[in-house]
Amino acid sequence: PLSKRLNTVKQLIPQSCNVLADIGSDHAYLPCQICLENADLKAIAGEVNDGPMQAALNQVNHWQLSDQIDVRLGDGLSVIDFGEVDCVTIAGMGGALITHILTDGLSKLNGQETLILQPNIDAHLIRQFAQDYGYNIEYENVLEEDGYYYDIIVLKHSDSSVHYSKKEIYLGPLMLKQPNQAFYEKWLRAYKKQQLVVDEMCKAKEPNLEKIKRYQEELLWIEEALEL
Ligand code: SAM
Repeated sequence: PLSKRLNTVKQLIPQSCNVLADIGSDHAYLPCQICLENADLKAIAGEVNDGPMQAALNQVNHWQLSDQIDVRLGDGLSVIDFGEVDCVTIAGMGGALITHILTDGLSKLNGQETLILQPNIDAHLIRQFAQDYGYNIEYENVLEEDGYYYDIIVLKHSDSSVHYSKKEIYLGPLMLKQPNQAFYEKWLRAYKKQQLVVDEMCKAKEPNLEKIKRYQEELLWIEEALEL
């Protein structure tokens, strides 16, 4: 069975999806599971590293899914053709790497794809990407598993211009509207940590006032969101 994290990603794959690309697939757990459930689905499991690609191949062979899942070695979206897939999942990496993979691979996307992204850290970079490249945030969630908090963000390209405030980029526009328990816990933990950091920064011989101001602004956003 999939982890709670990957299962949540899987459940967000639209019923209408015909071809899925799972980028950074490692053991290809996600494409294997969904292809076992849906025999009509085709998937591409992309991996940049040999070891994980081999693990993906083994998994696909184990479940006899090689007619449904194509394991491809390559960097990010370079493994897919333009318009080849209608859904992309990228899970279990930092927001910086996910954003890099998307900006690097934009020429492979026709704008119809559903992008399901699960950053382990720095989810705000994905929201900034959405804003910069005209993607609408369709769905957001924060979930807890084994003491870690994971963000999940679903993006669709939008014809109209997209604007999020700095606070929305930082905390998530949809999570701000509908916060859940995991969101609350994640940001309370971050708040306490950041408060200590700011305290230390203020004690420095030559405090970096600009950075302190930015951190304090973020603390204020968290206070507002959590009603602290
Ligand atoms: N997606 C799986 C999950 O969520 O459990 C595996 C996550 S694993 C921590 C991250 C994987 O991404 C690694 O196997 C790594 O080799 C792969 N990866 C890192 N950078 C990549 C890139 N630019 N293109 C494709 N895969 C990449």
